[in-house]
Amino acid sequence: MISRQSAIQIIQDTVKPTTEIDTVGLFESYGRTLAENIISDIDIPPFNRVTMDGYAVVSSDGPGLYSVIEDIPAGKFPTSVVEPGSVSKVMTGAPLPDGADAVIQVEKTGGFVNVGQSAQINEKIRKGQNISSTGEDVNKGDLVIKSGAYIRSAEISVLASMGYDPVKCYRNPSVAILATGDELVAPSQKPGPGQIRNSNGYSMFAQTYSLMLDPISLGVGQDNENDLRDKIERGATHDFLLVSGGVSAGDRDFVPGILRDVGYDLLFHKVNIKPGKPITFGVSNNGRYVFGVPGNPVSSMVAFELFIKPAIRWFSRAPVADSLELEATLLNEFKRKNASREEFRPALIKWENGRFTAELIQYHGSGHFAAMTKANGIVRVDPEVDYLAKDQKVTGKLFSEFYLPIDKA
Ligand code: AMP
Ligand code: MG
Repeated sequence: MISRQSAIQIIQDTVKPTTEIDTVGLFESYGRTLAENIISDIDIPPFNRVTMDGYAVVSSDGPGLYSVIEDIPAGKFPTSVVEPGSVSKVMTGAPLPDGADAVIQVEKTGGFVNVGQSAQINEKIRKGQNISSTGEDVNKGDLVIKSGAYIRSAEISVLASMGYDPVKCYRNPSVAILATGDELVAPSQKPGPGQIRNSNGYSMFAQTYSLMLDPISLGVGQDNENDLRDKIERGATHDFLLVSGGVSAGDRDFVPGILRDVGYDLLFHKVNIKPGKPITFGVSNNGRYVFGVPGNPVSSMVAFELFIKPAIRWFSRAPVADSLELEATLLNEFKRKNASREEFRPALIKWENGRFTAELIQYHGSGHFAAMTKANGIVRVDPEVDYLAKDQKVTGKLFSEFYLPIDKA
């Protein structure tokens, strides 16, 4: 059995960041890693841009009545020069006409009038006011985002503005998900005696989906060698195969043996954590990866957060340290009898009165998936620690989906 830290190290040493590049439409680039430098082909703003609705003026003119020589909405290029004694009507986003050196907002005038009429300017305005000058944000030729950046909404905005549609991104891994167990039935079915509904096949799908990936489902594998081998062989054609169940020491836990037969080298099969001890990680000689996680729903969800998510993100060159770890004040005490493993407990983490607080959720063990709907993260209990006092500091980690459950928001 190895520690969580050793397991993470093995995963990090094994998973090779992809070097393959896709050219994708801008909409699809969200959540991927950029594979080209983003260089601006234009100045931004591309012209002296008006930032308020009002009149373009010669600032030295001051208050008074001035004749309106042109109407310039956004998208129109001015044709008349504003001479002292005249003004042009301008809207936000329009280019500033030559001759003008400031814009006075309409609220400081007698209101909008038509071209040929006189506008009442009520206040003096300083030169340069309400104008954003050419190249103020970005100059043509500037390196604005470096290759390797993770594409969030802010990067999408830059890519759109610089004309990068389509854009080069590192390839996303393909992910296949297999739930195993003779006892499993589909969510749409009523379980018979001894049966339960397959939840992991769906929760792992959703967790993968939350990483902006489109996993494929291999359905449910029965606990027999033929069916499992058939489905695992299909899964082995994907960059990541995620298998739930069948990895412990039961006499029908065939998964590790078949993974080896299919060509995976299994690098560990037990990690000193609770929940999720019997977790398997392997790699094939053609650079495909497999995780086998225990079937208990909470174990599978926690294992995904701790191990699978970083692995997938290493592959796609996305940030792994997602800054979602924090120090929180514990709101309720915690005791345990067996302190041999590092334990993760479902928690509701909130920002309250200038600090994070963590409330441990009532939880009966790794099968208690309903408890997870009340949690938005986990709290870590170190090995050898059998007691955590109320009000003491603990380490918490928010899930990627860290929103507060609705009844707690
Ligand atoms: P296993 O890891 O196969 O020994 O399964 C451990 C526990 O998790 C057993 O109680 C299983 O019935 C349950 N389990 C296994 N797979 C799933 C699944 N896909 N959805 C919900 N529970 C599961
Ligand atoms: Mg099983």
